Amino acid sequence: MSIAPKPRSALLIVGHGSTQNPDSSAPYFEHAEQIRRRGLFAEVHCCFWKEEPSMREASYLFDSDEIYVVPDFISEGYFTQDVIPRELQLSGPTTVLRGKTFHYCLPVGVHPSMTDLILRRAKEVAPDADPAATTLIITGHGTGFNKNSTKAIHDQVALIAASGAGYAAVVAAFMEEAPFIADWDQLALTPNVVVVPFFISDGLHSYQDIPVLLGIETEIGPAASQREVFRHNPHSLRGKSLFYSSAIGTEPLIADVILDLIGDFDISHKITNEPVATIFPQSVEPLTSSQKLLHAIANGVHRIGEIEIGIVVSNDRLELNDQITKPTTETSDSNQRFSLCHAADVALRDANGAPGLTTYAGPGAAREIAAYAEDGTYRFLHAQRNLRRGWLLCLDTVEDLRLALDQFYPACVGLWLAQQDASLEVEHLRDKLQRQSGMYQRVRSLSNEALQELVPLTCSSAVPCARHLLWQVDADTPLLPSAASHRRGLPDDVPAAAAIPLLCREACNHWVAECLAAAKAAKSATPVSQ
Ligand code: SF4
Repeated sequence: MSIAPKPRSALLIVGHGSTQNPDSSAPYFEHAEQIRRRGLFAEVHCCFWKEEPSMREASYLFDSDEIYVVPDFISEGYFTQDVIPRELQLSGPTTVLRGKTFHYCLPVGVHPSMTDLILRRAKEVAPDADPAATTLIITGHGTGFNKNSTKAIHDQVALIAASGAGYAAVVAAFMEEAPFIADWDQLALTPNVVVVPFFISDGLHSYQDIPVLLGIETEIGPAASQREVFRHNPHSLRGKSLFYSSAIGTEPLIADVILDLIGDFDISHKITNEPVATIFPQSVEPLTSSQKLLHAIANGVHRIGEIEIGIVVSNDRLELNDQITKPTTETSDSNQRFSLCHAADVALRDANGAPGLTTYAGPGAAREIAAYAEDGTYRFLHAQRNLRRGWLLCLDTVEDLRLALDQFYPACVGLWLAQQDASLEVEHLRDKLQRQSGMYQRVRSLSNEALQELVPLTCSSAVPCARHLLWQVDADTPLLPSAASHRRGLPDDVPAAAAIPLLCREACNHWVAECLAAAKAAKSATPVSQ
């Protein structure tokens, strides 16, 4: 199905993310970029459960008044039915919140076209294997935590078995429940076996755990981007030829599934493609956030966190900071081009460019630059002061600049603009902890004293987070003075008016994970009553 352009609407792709593996969120950004390139929506962004931007920060990414929310999840369950509606404050298929209309679509994994994608992926990974001599295994996690993901795999097995694809057998197998993927050779009677992981991303399970269970690897290795586990098919193991594919969610056609889900939503909820009504007449439409950013740069803003924002003049030379501290007609030009580099590398730029720096182009490169620190550490907290040096990123438009800044410091431009127009909503820690569900509910039991102790430990750890803490324990309990609570989210070496502050409007999910660890430690330290 192709959908008509929605130039006044936005798309929000929601994913799980990971604090351990940057490859976990890669497919979501790739799906977003594919859809963005088609020009169907005014804006396309991602948000995550485990990474930044969080779901609550997501609304600060958008200017549009109508937002389609698509969970890039493999099945319905805890996240799609509980976590996402709670975090995005959705009350049904369509929710109007603070003047914006959110449409909540089904998750990608339940769409009928997933069956074709699995078959396509199986053919890609084993193009010469005769289906009649091949067993196709669809594998997932298993266990009772999410029965729906197990059901989704069994459903796909039944659909493919009935599809006429010609496989000798199609079976389901799981990491943590029978039939076990570790027994793949006993599940298959054929000489060829194709294994397709039914996950969205190549995270810990598909890249690290399952290869060990299959016998491809002897021990769990590093993250996907540093591995070549899928490039050595077929594997001759246990007397068979084993073909192992990457996760089904990495299939580029998932972008089409996302669009199909939006088309289905429109049909089933009778949503027409009429322009969304706006309270502003055409002549006085408010500035977009990109236009506001452009004006701020024209008025001397040139720093965010560890990043220096430069402009590129028409003869392709880089303008240095002291030349852009005053507004000029040139810097108000919507065709303006920009450059970003580490603030410590400004001296390496010169009139001929930046010969000492590796040059990248386009906002997509920002994610790659920001992913790892110099020492190889994964930077899941983007405001940590360990951004690597040695690069120059060139951007052709202010929209690309905004996208790149949202990769380096997720949602921070939007949070800053919201603070300026007094629309920024801060959520205090008790409110955040109170809405936790599942195993995270136990964080509610932590005392105020325990929470106060966690602030410097979590926000000013070995590599401090640079964000300015706007939240308190609760409305009446400010944070105790500490290095973390004193930060203002601004660099020390430029005037405040020249920088976009990094703001923290609520405790991040890394913070909540630390709370959970503290709550568990407190419980295990409590003496058992006799
Ligand atoms: S809660 Fe602390 S560590 Fe997390 S984003 Fe905010 S300032 Fe950074």
